[in-house]
Amino acid sequence: MTTMVEHIACTFCGCVCDDIVVEVEGSRIAGVRGACVVGRGVLDEYDPEVRRPVVAGREVDWEQAVGAAAAILNEADSPLIYGLSSTAIEAQRKAVKLADRLGAIIDTTSSVCHGPTGLAMQAVGEATCTLGEVRDRADLIVFWGCNPAASHPRHFGRFSLTPAGALTPNGRADRTVVVVDVRPTGSSKQADHFLQVNAGADFEVLTALRYLARGEDVEAAAIGGIPVSQLRDLVRTMKACRYGVVFMGMGLTMSRGRHLNVGELFSLVAELNTYTRFSVIPMRGHGNVAGADQVLTWSSGYPFAVSFARGYPQFGPGEFSAVDVLARGEADAALIVASDPVAHLPRAAAEHLEHIPTILLDPTPSLTASIAQVVFPTASYGLDAAGTAYRMDNVPIPLHRLFASGRPTDEEILDRIIEAVT
Ligand code: SF4
Repeated sequence: MTTMVEHIACTFCGCVCDDIVVEVEGSRIAGVRGACVVGRGVLDEYDPEVRRPVVAGREVDWEQAVGAAAAILNEADSPLIYGLSSTAIEAQRKAVKLADRLGAIIDTTSSVCHGPTGLAMQAVGEATCTLGEVRDRADLIVFWGCNPAASHPRHFGRFSLTPAGALTPNGRADRTVVVVDVRPTGSSKQADHFLQVNAGADFEVLTALRYLARGEDVEAAAIGGIPVSQLRDLVRTMKACRYGVVFMGMGLTMSRGRHLNVGELFSLVAELNTYTRFSVIPMRGHGNVAGADQVLTWSSGYPFAVSFARGYPQFGPGEFSAVDVLARGEADAALIVASDPVAHLPRAAAEHLEHIPTILLDPTPSLTASIAQVVFPTASYGLDAAGTAYRMDNVPIPLHRLFASGRPTDEEILDRIIEAVT
């Protein structure tokens, strides 16, 4: 029998679109409506077949795998827990509890994407809003160092460019759109104004914008490759708008200046509130990477790169971030949740994972699964596991279980490991 299930959330990217309609036939997805091509692919291709866990290349039962994982973690002096951006907050809470129990280092994929954003938030604060406010109020949208046309395909249609909102009834016609980036992109093609900044010069440009916004003069003809006349126009547009929002991406966080770039942008946004309403929203990539920041912050006080080795949480970006801990060869065991670090981390860090016992909880096959000592093919959040994910604007979205596959969830496996470690 086929059932139509409405208001399903896609958890592939930080938009967490929760208006998807899915046709379910038993434990199979027979059709998907409303998702973008990326989300549809993820949902359509989900394989709900129950696979058994694997220990040292051999299929075992779930209890044996839990025992093997606990034995690895008990043996380790300096275990690392990593990933967490593609699982529910219920599992993320358990991962923090396990890190606390083990005296482990815990880090999330934030440290290789918006970690600098977290540092800037701590340093200067963040004037922010929800995506609902963007849709309803914003008449000026600035995309800085991000390309949602490629990375978040429904962002424009649901929140930022075309939807009609309470104060933007004519959709796109009621909005001015500016893109700042190092090269033309699919997003810049849809903008009213495109400012091409030299690679690594964002900080200078943001500082110039702060000066101009205060009414100071900037003597140079161009800053960071952008004519100052264009920067003056942008400042005029920013001050004259009714409600402005900047969406910022890894073009700022992962280029020269990193957290200083983001801090400068956050300061500019805060200062623009002297003249009008202005907010900033980081473009978060993974479906629940914002939730990982939230959970780690409310449980340890810090958003990523936290060590419990001394019996209390210590924050150490660069010291306790997974890339650094692995590349320096300091971790002697790793537990990875819903992530593929072997595919995505720099080579030295990925290679170290091959030399230490690694435990993986992940519903989908991956390069990390191919090197892991223990693999738990768990349920996927929002498909055969219920839970909660935080959208990029930190609004929690409930995730329903579409069908019962018989796979345990990440939360359940982490609970069993917590019980089994000494
Ligand atoms: S925009 Fe993102 S969350 Fe929305 S359907 Fe596409 S991949 Fe899924």
